[in-house]
Amino acid sequence: MTYQIGNGLSTSLWHDPWHPIGILADEFDNSIISDFGSTPQALVASIIQNNSWRWPEGRRRSRQVIELIRATPVDQVPDCFKTNSVKWTASTTRIYTTKSAYHRMRDSQHNICWSHLVWFKGNIPRFAFITWLACKFTLSTKSRLKAWGVVKEDQCVFCPMEPDTIEHLFFACPYTYEVWKEIMSLH
Ligand SMILES: [Zn+2]
Repeated sequence: MTYQIGNGLSTSLWHDPWHPIGILADEFDNSIISDFGSTPQALVASIIQNNSWRWPEGRRRSRQVIELIRATPVDQVPDCFKTNSVKWTASTTRIYTTKSAYHRMRDSQHNICWSHLVWFKGNIPRFAFITWLACKFTLSTKSRLKAWGVVKEDQCVFCPMEPDTIEHLFFACPYTYEVWKEIMSLH
């Protein structure tokens, strides 16, 4: 999301994320406000004059002020004849959608080759949910239930060989191995 600054009215100079480096009150010490001869309630309009930025002059050009001036892109200039606007940059259409917001927030990973076997149109939500829990290692296996004191035994229900863990259930159990083999032969 980027701010397109027009006349600077209705946008807080220190508390709105109008600048590319973020919310200025968070990025700089409070002393920058007095260096600007400003107040915490000031609007961006207070540093605009004739479609250009009105930066503090003389001794008030502290290290922080210089840093802020340098961090302001040269193509980011106000346009006094327009109102401020906000552009959504997370989608190519510049139009906000829940999908584009979700993709911006999450850590994206490469698709895994078997994802279409679990997540597809018409899948069984319960199965997909259980698989998702297994991928997150949060499936309530007997070994976890035992650790929580819910059950006393944690042996696999399909074979008496190993504790019922995700690794055993999905990768090592001889019984479920045969089941997976049958399922995969259907494809
Ligand atoms: Zn087993």
